[in-house]
Amino acid sequence: MTAQSNSKQTKFIFVTGGVVSSLGKGIAAASLGVLLKSQGYSVCMQKFDPYLNLDPGTMSPYQHGEVFVTEDGCETDLDLGHYERFIDENLTRVNNVTSGMVFSEVLAKERRGDYLGNTVQIIPHVTNEIKGRFRAPLEKQHYDVIITEVGGTVGDIESLPFLEAIRQFEFKNKLDAMHIHLTLVPYLTTSGEFKTKPTQHSVKELRSIGIQPDVIICRSPMAISTEIKEKISLFCDVDRDSVVSAMDVESIYDVPLVLENEKLDDVVCRRLGLEKKAKELTRWKEFVRILHDPTLASVKVAIVGKYVELSDCYLSVVESLKHAAADNLCHLDVVWVNAQDLETQGAEKYLSGVSGILIPGGFGERGIEGKILAAEFAREKDIPYLGLCLGMHIAAIEFARNVLNMSGANSAEFAPDSAYPVIHFMDGQDNIKEKGGTMRLGSYPCDIEPNSRLYEAYGESQVEERHRHRLEFNNSYREDFESAGVVFSGLSPDKSLVEVMELSDRKWYVACQYHPEFKSRPAKSHPLFRQFIAAVKEQAGVQQVLFSASK
Ligand code: GLN
Repeated sequence: MTAQSNSKQTKFIFVTGGVVSSLGKGIAAASLGVLLKSQGYSVCMQKFDPYLNLDPGTMSPYQHGEVFVTEDGCETDLDLGHYERFIDENLTRVNNVTSGMVFSEVLAKERRGDYLGNTVQIIPHVTNEIKGRFRAPLEKQHYDVIITEVGGTVGDIESLPFLEAIRQFEFKNKLDAMHIHLTLVPYLTTSGEFKTKPTQHSVKELRSIGIQPDVIICRSPMAISTEIKEKISLFCDVDRDSVVSAMDVESIYDVPLVLENEKLDDVVCRRLGLEKKAKELTRWKEFVRILHDPTLASVKVAIVGKYVELSDCYLSVVESLKHAAADNLCHLDVVWVNAQDLETQGAEKYLSGVSGILIPGGFGERGIEGKILAAEFAREKDIPYLGLCLGMHIAAIEFARNVLNMSGANSAEFAPDSAYPVIHFMDGQDNIKEKGGTMRLGSYPCDIEPNSRLYEAYGESQVEERHRHRLEFNNSYREDFESAGVVFSGLSPDKSLVEVMELSDRKWYVACQYHPEFKSRPAKSHPLFRQFIAAVKEQAGVQQVLFSASK
């Protein structure tokens, strides 16, 4: 081992969590990424998930929230969305690893005979496979820092191989690797005090595996006092300034600033031998300032979906709307509408007070008729409409039924025998047996028609957007739609696939086959969301001012 760390050497930061799940480990890790990147360091982030699924692509949104799609078409954990939005970098399939992937690779190697007749074991075979993946992003390019978050909570049986791999890695790379542990420090209102015992137990559990954290981030309802920090420092063998308070805040975008205030990046730089440089956070701070500006008006946007009681299922959509609202200098008031409620109660009751209607992506039949009612309401009342993937299918079905009088028009996903299958399976997608990773996934180009809302939004004649679908607009109906006023303003370069349809006689009615929500970033909102919110703002009668710094 060298006595001094080489500052050109990639530094590895591991982030684990304890006590309970849902403490915001992903946000804390991403916030550290923001602070290091703001100093000019190149940062990569990755998530290692202990579950056995190969990826979250086939998991129910109830279990896993949104499936985030990367440029290279990988279906990943929603934390990758936070990472991309926070550090403003595109990540790839190597950045989300699950136990399922690790085990299946180890078993494939065993079948190939790579282990030369050895007994294949968790240690060393599985742990070596995991350790290799800690460094995998470096095969493509150099990074100054790689932050790796481990999903789940310390103490879970299934995360043990990951933690053992981290222990070995940290031991071999003492100067270039560090460990951050995030825990809960509850506040008992009855006795009026913070409690450090859960943190002590969690660190004890981590140390029993052989990992000593360098930093403890304490999630608590309010900032914890110096005495509490000292107590945690004493019991957990962590420097006093390495106990960092992360209290509840209004917005996730506040967290980098909270952690900066706690000097987390100073502690990390010192520990890893990274030079501490001046930070550039102007745009981030301005974005956060707008989020909290009490003088700005709010606009109401309805999201009509089927998992509305769990907003994590539409996480990137909501974040994109927030970015767009900030860039339009207004606040966002999301009105969650369960599509099935429209089926029984009608659209008017739920949508009459909103200035914009958004139908996000989705799968399966439940709530489809309610979504069609929402699209009809938007078109008839001329309320700005943004349809995303399934939201475009819905727009097409509604238009076919109610404008083109194609009674019973539908998508082959819901009505295989419809007389008017305006949405049908893409070639080869109708008899897919393997469900995982087999959709049309990832980034594809889209040509944009001049003189369209779409062009107005992007100002470019070709863009790349991310996809996740099996069905598409049925080209046999293109002429019918066009003759009734639909503009297919976005097409694949070979013109075979409808990427965007819009209604030019409406104020703003745009529906796309792709998922723009995966590319929006704070202080750099996605053009479609930005224009949608601009139209929503106009609809709401709020004077329109675009935030010029975002252009
Ligand atoms: N279920 C539709 C399809 O498979 C839409 C998918 C989506 O909205 N992501 O094409």
